[in-house]
Amino acid sequence: MLIKISELLSVFPDAEAYLEDRQKTLKDVLDSKTKLIKERQDYNRQNRQDFERWFFDLFIEVFLKKDTKKLEREIKRNDWILNPIKKGNGITEQDIEIAKAYPLMDLIGTDKTIINCPNPDHEDKNPSCSINKKANFLYCFSCNYYADSIKYVQDNLGLGFVDAVRRLI
Ligand SMILES: [Zn+2]
Repeated sequence: MLIKISELLSVFPDAEAYLEDRQKTLKDVLDSKTKLIKERQDYNRQNRQDFERWFFDLFIEVFLKKDTKKLEREIKRNDWILNPIKKGNGITEQDIEIAKAYPLMDLIGTDKTIINCPNPDHEDKNPSCSINKKANFLYCFSCNYYADSIKYVQDNLGLGFVDAVRRLI
């Protein structure tokens, strides 16, 4: 299975201490750079005018802020690895990704890619539903029913989204 960024620490648990340390260093560097930029901007505003002010503001924007934007991106990515986003109901973004990746064909218990439509509202006499194995979703050409693994479990077991995710992880 593809490793998601939010799962990296479960694969490399030793990296957590390193990552936390690096995160602290990055935040310190970002703080000092942000402070420096503010000082230069203030100085520029107080002491320069017209073209000169415009020029130095541009200089700050192009050369100094480029660095801080790069730092901010790395900090954000590390945060995402260290603290996968909780969805407020106990499941994480990574749980949803894992649930979505659960093979639909295993779930349905079939090795065929054309099946009777599993939409509870569609009484399908001839198989009219296709499973895209690679993308892991199904589509019914008769009733337009669409489902990934999570939706399939929701509709066929009568569960809400969160419970369906829990069932699949
Ligand atoms: Zn259907």
